[in-house]
Amino acid sequence: MKTALISGITGQDGAYLAKLLLNNNYNVIGLVRDSSTNFEGLDYLNIKKEIDIVKCDLIDISQTAKILETYKPDEIYNLAAQSSVSQSYNDPIGTFKFNTISVFNIIESMKSVNPAIKLYQASSSEMFGRVGQLPITENSLIHPVSPYAISKVSAHYTCVNYREIYNLYISCGILFNHESYLRKNDFFIKKVIRESLEISLNKKKDLQVGNIDIKRDFGYAPKYVEAMYLMLQQEKPSDYLICSGKSVSLREIIYYVFDKLQIDKSLCVVNEKFYRPGDIENIYGNNEKAKKDLSWEYDYNFFEVLDLLIEEELMNYKHN
Ligand code: NAP
Repeated sequence: MKTALISGITGQDGAYLAKLLLNNNYNVIGLVRDSSTNFEGLDYLNIKKEIDIVKCDLIDISQTAKILETYKPDEIYNLAAQSSVSQSYNDPIGTFKFNTISVFNIIESMKSVNPAIKLYQASSSEMFGRVGQLPITENSLIHPVSPYAISKVSAHYTCVNYREIYNLYISCGILFNHESYLRKNDFFIKKVIRESLEISLNKKKDLQVGNIDIKRDFGYAPKYVEAMYLMLQQEKPSDYLICSGKSVSLREIIYYVFDKLQIDKSLCVVNEKFYRPGDIENIYGNNEKAKKDLSWEYDYNFFEVLDLLIEEELMNYKHN
């Protein structure tokens, strides 16, 4: 039986990935920052009792090294991060510190404890930032435009460097936005669906949003975690873009959800308070490398994903 260690097990991706690995007969160790952490995602998927939850401060290398010595993982999936672009403007230094030092600590610990461990690093499409030519490929220029993106670029090139210099097995998944019922409430898609539902039930007046004319390449999280797993099953490590290949505007998404829930479009209110200091206007990627080399399958268009998410939100809303 293989052992996988997942940091960020309490996040959206951590929960879906843990489920996938358990289904593949892995022994799953989940790292958490403290014992008071919220396990809603693992409880929702009904897998909490099958996971060994271990407390670890990823900023402390003595703790990361000890964890590797104790649990002897075959694979590590490093998903823990301050993952919000908006929040990174409020705490740029904290975001940079955690998102980069944690990666150094994991890799340095692998190098000293067991260089045969395979590592998956959660990189981000936000790294491309000021986009030149579309679609983005694995070879596109990097030009980050937020503190979050800068931290992810730094972590990404730490991984590439250790792979090239020390021959460690490290693969980076450069994931575009991906959504699910387990997404945190302050992320755009989840916020739109939840708050629209509340408007339709007369519990909320309107939906307040920032710049909704930007376009993003959105996908479905339970399918994107399959690519993470596949990356570590390859003979050689590499970096892969994981995306749908198409972008849609935030406005189109809001209007689609409003139509489904029969809400008048005038209840979508643009508020400059929600504008970001820097933003990417339009971005979408090319997923051919992942489809070809990993045999990763993905053919959802995002409106199908929205249908699934609205249905799941409605179902759970009724039960709560
Ligand atoms: P998420 O739901 O925000 O989960 C983040 C995880 O990181 C949580 O388990 C959280 O733990 C942990 N974490 C945050 N700050 C931490 C800290 N200071 N110390 C220890 N743990 C900390 O993120 P996600 O959507 O699952 O994304 C997983 C990874 O993929 C992240 O690295 C993210 O940046 C990256 N990514 C995500 C997307 C996307 O669209 N979802 C796209 C590209 C890349 P707590 O529960 O204790 O807060």
